[in-house]
Amino acid sequence: MANTPYPQSYYAASANAAPPRPVLQGDVETDVCVIGAGYTGLSSALFLLESGFRVTVLEAAKVGFGASGRNGGQIVNSYSRDIDVIERSVGPRQAQLLGQMAFEGGKIIRERVAKYQIQCDLKDGGVFAALNSKHMGHLESQKRLWERYGHTQLELLDERRIREVVACDNYVGGLLDMSGGHIHPLNLALGEAAAVESLGGTIYEQSAAVRIERGANPVVHTAEGKVRAKFIIVAGNAYLGNLVPELAAKSMPCGTQVITTAPLGDELARTLLPQDYCVEDCNYLLDYYRLTRDKRLIFGGGVVYGARDPANIEAIIRPKMLKAFPKLKDVKIDYAWTGNFLLTLSRLPQVGRLGDNIYYSQGCSGHGVTYTHLAGKVLAEALRGQAERFDAFADLPHYPFPGGQLLRTPFAAMGAWYYGLRDKLGF
Ligand SMILES: Cc1cc2nc3c(=O)[nH]c(=O)nc-3n(C[C@H](O)[C@H](O)[C@H](O)COP(=O)(O)OP(=O)(O)OC[C@H]3O[C@@H](n4cnc5c(N)ncnc54)[C@H](O)[C@@H]3O)c2cc1C
Repeated sequence: MANTPYPQSYYAASANAAPPRPVLQGDVETDVCVIGAGYTGLSSALFLLESGFRVTVLEAAKVGFGASGRNGGQIVNSYSRDIDVIERSVGPRQAQLLGQMAFEGGKIIRERVAKYQIQCDLKDGGVFAALNSKHMGHLESQKRLWERYGHTQLELLDERRIREVVACDNYVGGLLDMSGGHIHPLNLALGEAAAVESLGGTIYEQSAAVRIERGANPVVHTAEGKVRAKFIIVAGNAYLGNLVPELAAKSMPCGTQVITTAPLGDELARTLLPQDYCVEDCNYLLDYYRLTRDKRLIFGGGVVYGARDPANIEAIIRPKMLKAFPKLKDVKIDYAWTGNFLLTLSRLPQVGRLGDNIYYSQGCSGHGVTYTHLAGKVLAEALRGQAERFDAFADLPHYPFPGGQLLRTPFAAMGAWYYGLRDKLGF
């Protein structure tokens, strides 16, 4: 029997205790079978259980094994492409609905943490850092745009003010979002899994869905059992493989890498990020970082198209960290890992229904901590028969990557090289 452990990350090393979870054996009947115990699956399961559905979750490895247990932990509002792009590509009613939902995911996380007493080091405050005047102009428009959709917790930071929150000389300014923030991502997932179980849901680990028998009464097969359900939610994201071939063509798994320093001590940590906000810069291939509860710096960046695991993560990410904070040159790196997110060509989420009863949401393209929590709510609404908000996502246009499955990776890497060059030249 396969037994897939967590990758060796800081999060796995500092995870809250979790109960052993069974492997699915034999036949189970339920209302909704959720495939994948990341945020999309767990958020869906929680909203459905709260609405009275019976829910069974199948997880190929362990709760939070995928991106949800490995990410930068940054609570970032909106989507990987912002509302202005959505406004230009869809009709006004759909754009308005999507715009109104852009800040809901962060609220859902905070509600979940409060309601289920989840210990995940939640902190308020996230900074978008501008490396040049073009970035700053973009942040000024972003503030106006988000305020138009009701956001009230934004502050533009000039060159002097950003130094008060990030001790990095590279920035010309920034935008502080007090409804952004950060969490220990794996502990959030583990807390949500415990909440699912407290409401009577069942989570099977080491129980990959290997086949879906479609039809009026769909059945999900694992190696040793099967789940008969009224509905299925596919939430395997970048780790789904080819279980649902229709979904694979319009998305591409990509890797991004994270390192974690040894504990810095309170004093050094405070000199870097005095208010303990998280930070991401405005580059297309962006750097993101924050402090942990025990005052380590978690620093992420880089994208590997096609999700191959790079051989030496520290060699890729450490120079980026030192560019931001040269004073960390003698600090040891204790952990380095990679994780996969799912990219779509438009960088907007891929949401929909196959037949009458198989629902999916995936492909939030790098910024997914908030969106995936919203997705759970929107999927649960659709299963309850209220599909307006679900349809707003499902009607977003999606296109296959140029070059098909074979050539999509080099094509996307070429695109990223171009944008990386633009980042370097400050365009
Ligand atoms: C390194 C990294 C850093 C990131 N940083 C940030 C950040 O700071 N802020 C932010 O907003 N976003 C960030 N993201 C993106 C964010 O983490 C993801 O968008 C989000 O966690 C996706 O959640 P998910 O539940 O859809 O997928 P996942 O968390 O990947 O979960 C999918 C789960 O499905 C399981 N699964 C797959 N196939 C099957 C199957 N056949 N049967 C059963 N189970 C299956 C997998 O094992 C996995 O546990 C980052 C991503 C990575 C990789």
